[in-house]
Amino acid sequence: MPRPDGLLTDELDPHDRGPQDECGVFGVWAPGEEVGKLAYFGLYALQHRGQESAGIAVSDGRRMMVFKDMGLVSQVFDEATLSSLTGQIAVGHTRYSTTGASVWDNAQPTFRPTDAGGLALGHNGNLTNTDELEAWLEEYDDAPAVPHKTRMDSTSDTAILTALLVADPAESLEQAAMRVLPRLRGAFCLCFMDNSTLYAARDPQGIRPLVLGRLARGWVTASESAALDIVGASFVREIEPGEMIIINADGLRSVRFADANPKGCLFEYVYVARPDTAIAGRSVQATRLQIGRTLAREAPAEADLVIPVPESGTPAAIGYAEESGIPFGMGLVKNSYVGRTFIQPSQTIRQLGIRLKLNPLREVIEGRRLVVVDDSIVRGNTQRALIRMLREAGAAEVHVRISSPPVRWPCFYGIDFASRAELIANGLTIDEIRTSLGADSLAYVSLDGLTEATTMPAERLCRACFDGVYPIELPLAARAGGQVAEQPTLDEVEPEVDAPPLPAETAAR
Ligand code: SF4
Repeated sequence: MPRPDGLLTDELDPHDRGPQDECGVFGVWAPGEEVGKLAYFGLYALQHRGQESAGIAVSDGRRMMVFKDMGLVSQVFDEATLSSLTGQIAVGHTRYSTTGASVWDNAQPTFRPTDAGGLALGHNGNLTNTDELEAWLEEYDDAPAVPHKTRMDSTSDTAILTALLVADPAESLEQAAMRVLPRLRGAFCLCFMDNSTLYAARDPQGIRPLVLGRLARGWVTASESAALDIVGASFVREIEPGEMIIINADGLRSVRFADANPKGCLFEYVYVARPDTAIAGRSVQATRLQIGRTLAREAPAEADLVIPVPESGTPAAIGYAEESGIPFGMGLVKNSYVGRTFIQPSQTIRQLGIRLKLNPLREVIEGRRLVVVDDSIVRGNTQRALIRMLREAGAAEVHVRISSPPVRWPCFYGIDFASRAELIANGLTIDEIRTSLGADSLAYVSLDGLTEATTMPAERLCRACFDGVYPIELPLAARAGGQVAEQPTLDEVEPEVDAPPLPAETAAR
């Protein structure tokens, strides 16, 4: 039963939600350890990737149990529940819905009974060929004893995938996965299990991150390396695009179900991943500092103080201050806990907007010309309210600097930005956005500047929400619905390697 909630988010303004990642996944194979509790703490570290539901499946080798509910990890599980989740394998999941409604039936891990006991699966990402997969599933409708489409109690792409794995007549889950995974399109990082084996697989483009870690007596797989740290696992390596890892009493094996064609999500570096997570051997914090330095070079400002919009704007603001020589200060204090509640806000409380989350430090702000650094602008409502609040607190000037390029295109690979029509950068010039926000100047980091800050070559990244070049074929409905213009996918255009950085897009009044 979904709980009514207006503030189940750590967004600054719950009615102007920022980009939402779809999910975090966690898997652990560790006989003799408290795998349910390890999964719980792993999910805690991945809470930022999905805040609408949480779940853990465990198996003791004979019996599988799944516990999931709507809410944050800390709200779904208590000591009594965790104590009952015992076994040697666990799969955990935190979810934010993009495909399928935010209801209990769509919470993960998904579960399907099988002849061998059961299958539990957690998925991060978004499949783009669900119509084709549903049609494939329908081919099994006539086969007796397979759970066909009409018996699915969930509307999500993950439910279709789970049903396909179970419906496949292969003798083992591994064989079924080797038949099903190559036919999936879109973004998928999977942690799934039967009663004896933990599996982890990553789509051929490796759009979302997935890593492998080692415990003293077992293995861990997780969306981000920060989730390995919290359970005391050492980082082994990233799971490769197109690779599936199989872990059971016979040890760990790696198989390849598709050739790798890496296109990692650029937005993970800007916003989604935790700063203490490492991608391709480098911390996300280091990348964000570099983006701030690049932003300062591309879009300087005459100002007295650099302040971040906490917390995701903080590393880039530090980098901006370092490069520009303008002092860094905390001009806004974030109340981190007020949003983590199920209380339905009254109209009076709603009108408080971001004041529920951010409080300006008047003595820091008053009379100062501010550079305000944020990670992205989606609809712009939050930044508009923020600028008004800073002016009311006495700011002499407000120069907004954004550590990503304008988001002009929707994401079909697991990040929910808003519909294309809602994106403020869709159809407005930078100066029109500046006017709409009420800033003295506005600048975004350039796409090439951002790409360079990641140290990854452009051809190994997905940058579609910024440039509209989609590396994986899109669902027909998206193209037919006018969500995206007719244009080549990345495979059809020449990559611009070594292109000099473009100047940042800037507007000032
Ligand atoms: S479209 Fe944007 S958010 Fe989506 S995967 Fe590509 S870079 Fe990431």
